[in-house]
Amino acid sequence: MSRFLSARGQRLSVYTPGEQPRERRYIKLNTNESPFPPAPAVLEALQPGTLAGLRLYCDPECRELKRCLAAQYGLSPSEVFVGNGSDEALNFAFMAFGEDSIAYPDISYGFYPVFAALHGLKGIELPLLKDFSVPLALAQAQRCPVVLANPNAPTGIALPLCSIRQLLESDRERLLIVDEAYVDFGVESAVSLIPEFDNLLVVQTFSKSRSMAGARLGYALGQERLIEDLERVKYATNPYNVNALTQLLGIKTLENQAYYDACCRIIIENRAWTEAQLRALGFEVLPSGANFVFAAPPKGSAAALYEALKAQGILVRYFPRARTERYLRITIGTREEMSALVDALRALLQRTL
Ligand SMILES: *Cc1c(COP(=O)(O)O)cnc(C)c1O
Repeated sequence: MSRFLSARGQRLSVYTPGEQPRERRYIKLNTNESPFPPAPAVLEALQPGTLAGLRLYCDPECRELKRCLAAQYGLSPSEVFVGNGSDEALNFAFMAFGEDSIAYPDISYGFYPVFAALHGLKGIELPLLKDFSVPLALAQAQRCPVVLANPNAPTGIALPLCSIRQLLESDRERLLIVDEAYVDFGVESAVSLIPEFDNLLVVQTFSKSRSMAGARLGYALGQERLIEDLERVKYATNPYNVNALTQLLGIKTLENQAYYDACCRIIIENRAWTEAQLRALGFEVLPSGANFVFAAPPKGSAAALYEALKAQGILVRYFPRARTERYLRITIGTREEMSALVDALRALLQRTL
């Protein structure tokens, strides 16, 4: 760091993204991207005329994109916020709604404690129960905003909608932020509860189920007043937060929902296949509602397996913390990729006999 870095800058905690190596081709199962390209119509959207339009600022209100998202979810455009990835929507939500503390599970998305620290909030960690499920009674006891990833990451475990409803009803003065980055892989969304609850904000993304991680597009859905608050933070930070190309690609994506639904169905099938294969190899596999599985090998260390897979060109994710160190988080890719992974694991486990 330079000698000019402020004390505030020095105190920042930072998020460590999963590896995005460029030096060799990996079977990349480490950051929960889609193995499928965007829909053909999305690929065709970037014409020279579109690029020429870049001389103009983009629409800061993202009107057309909000209209399409609102139509997809049966909401009004005033109930939609769009951000530069859902990370930005979450960041703005922490900034807008965090007073002195904010609560989230102790094992969850690694950005929550970083955002809490960034905004000077005390992060209250809710310890997951023994089976890695969310401690609902403890969540209900909080007065501050609660953030839940549903399904949770890196466990993949999902809460049923009735539990979300119960949490919302237990204190209507407490805001619940549900991060649904993985909701499209077979889990019930809380969006249907928005008309009933003004203390609910649902955050989703184009990064996982819609093959657009590199375009950076996420959104938050909630009643109009909540969305106004997020817009307030946006206009204090970065009014042109979603660039023109990404807005266009987002609209084209929503026009091709059937393609993405088909991709999600394949991922769900491949997930079931992978779970069965891993269990047959003796792995403990947590029940997943996401496009990844969290699995512990029957013997040897997960850290060593992670390294051995990487040396063979297969990248997965390893979280070296007390309760997660026995597990690997493995993104679900194509059937070919998952076969290669299972074959590699089988061979590695035999070697350590
Ligand atoms: C991937 C992920 C995000 C971030 O998604 P972006 O839209 O790419 O910023 C947010 N929350 C969870 C739980 C995630 O896994």
